[in-house]
Amino acid sequence: MSAKIIDGKEFAANIRKKVADHVTRLQQDHNLTPGLAVVLVGEDPASSVYVRAKGKATREVGMNSYEHRLDADASQEAVLALIDKLNSDPAVHGILCQLPLPDHIDEPTVTNAIVPEKDVDGFHISNVGLLATGQKAMVPCTPLGCLMMLRDHHGSLSGLNAVVVGRSNIVGKPMAALLLGDSCTVTIAHSRTKNIQDLCRSADILVAAVGRPEMITGDWIAKGATVIDVGINRIPAPEKGEGKTRLVGDVDFASAVEKAGAITPVPGGVGPMTIACLLANTVTACSRANGLAEPEGLTV
Ligand code: NDP
Repeated sequence: MSAKIIDGKEFAANIRKKVADHVTRLQQDHNLTPGLAVVLVGEDPASSVYVRAKGKATREVGMNSYEHRLDADASQEAVLALIDKLNSDPAVHGILCQLPLPDHIDEPTVTNAIVPEKDVDGFHISNVGLLATGQKAMVPCTPLGCLMMLRDHHGSLSGLNAVVVGRSNIVGKPMAALLLGDSCTVTIAHSRTKNIQDLCRSADILVAAVGRPEMITGDWIAKGATVIDVGINRIPAPEKGEGKTRLVGDVDFASAVEKAGAITPVPGGVGPMTIACLLANTVTACSRANGLAEPEGLTV
């Protein structure tokens, strides 16, 4: 039997609607409009597309969007000075610096220069520590979106075996921390993991965040397991014409859908949730900064 397809597009649309409703309430009741500042250093084409998409999504839910573009050769001091200014700007409730940064700029230094309360990417070391110790944090957007979809599908995650493949700071590790926080028994797999296929087959919940196209096939998956595919990989698609490409995940969808109980597709699964959760984090940051009740269902 084919798995249930978890529709990330529809889920993300619901999140955006909740964010927009909360923004309206903040405006009407408190004369407050949440603001998100995005800093882009250089002209990496993929980063430019992401920054444009974030700005558009921010405006669509009624929030203010501030884009700051610096030249690729901007100094680290210039980036830090801009972040300093944004940190103390009361109209800005969320700040993110689009990664990757040019080689001459130290990413952790920049990430940790954003005040934790405005760190809507959840990469500041204070937020990493808060999440790891089960305290209220700004949670990285991609794993936050995955957790929301898992909670929605399962209700309680307590006692389930979760395997997260990938140990990056932006996806794998925070994902594992969130699942642990929901009382899953969590294992993190990576490139040195032995018997990885057997390990994956032990999972009730399998999260793939590897960056290797279609690596996880149906025979890695326990019958009925829930599969969250974080991967975004572009591969050649000669069937669409010469030089054409298509997006695939880290999971081989065709074989996985026959084994899993539920699965996120690529595209249309985790991807749309990431920007929706960025908006959610910004409205949460604005509410917290003003001592107001946090929006329901938009944070953990
Ligand atoms: P990273 O490259 O930072 O991390 C990849 C992880 O996968 C590493 O921990 C690595 O292990 C592990 N890995 C690599 N090869 C193997 C293997 N053969 N077997 C087991 N583990 C392996 O990637 P990210 O976490 O940043 O991203 C992962 C994927 O998610 C990418 O496809 C990325 O494009 C996508 N992504 C999607 C987002 C979305 O919005 N949907 C957002 C962010 C990322 P080791 O540490 O040992 O090297």
